[in-house]
Amino acid sequence: MNKAYLGIGTNMGNRFDNLSKACELLRDSDSIYEVKESKLYETKPWGYTEQADFLNMCVEIETEFEPYELLEYCQKIEEELHRKRIVHWGPRTIDVDILFFNDVVSTDERLLIPHPRIQDRAFVLIPLMDLNEELLINKKSIKEYLNLLSAKEIEEVKELVGYE
Ligand code: ADP
Ligand code: MG
Repeated sequence: MNKAYLGIGTNMGNRFDNLSKACELLRDSDSIYEVKESKLYETKPWGYTEQADFLNMCVEIETEFEPYELLEYCQKIEEELHRKRIVHWGPRTIDVDILFFNDVVSTDERLLIPHPRIQDRAFVLIPLMDLNEELLINKKSIKEYLNLLSAKEIEEVKELVGYE
C-alpha cells in the first residue's frame, strides 16, 4: 500500500463545497482508502493576485494507485468539478496536486514529486503539519521550512473555524 499527500485548493464558486466534493471523489475510488483531512485554511492568492482568496487543505491517503494513476485520478476530479483554466495560476474551481508519494522522487515535468513548491508555500506547509510533522524534503523537516518563512506569510494563512 502506498501513502500519498495531496494539496487541494479552490477560489471559485462555493469553495467549501468544492473541497468537500473533491474529498468525496477521493473516497469514491476503489483504489483509495483512509482519506485523512487537514483543517481548512483561507489564503491570499499567489502569482496572479487580482482574484478571490483561496481555501486550501491537504489530505493523506492510502492508495493502491501508482503515481501516474493517482495523477490521472486527480485530473479526473479537476475535470469533474469543471475546473476552468483561464489564466495561469488564475482562478480555479479546484486544483489537486500530488505533494508526496511514499519517498518517490520524480523529475518528470508531467509529475514532479515531491511537488517543487511545497517548501515556499505556507498554505501547503501548514495543512501538512496537521497531518504529519515528520515529512521531509531534502532531509529537512517541513517544520524547518515553515520556520524559514516570514511571519507575514504565515499570518496570511488563516485557519477556517466553525465550518463543520
Ligand atoms: P499548478 O498546480 O502548478 O498551479 P496546474 O495544476 O495547472 O498548475 O499544473 C498542471 C500540470 O502540472 C499538469 O499538466 C501536471 O502534469 C503537472 N504536474 C507536475 N507535477 C505535478 C504534481 N506533483 N501534481 C499534480 N500535477 C503535476
Ligand atoms: Mg495543479
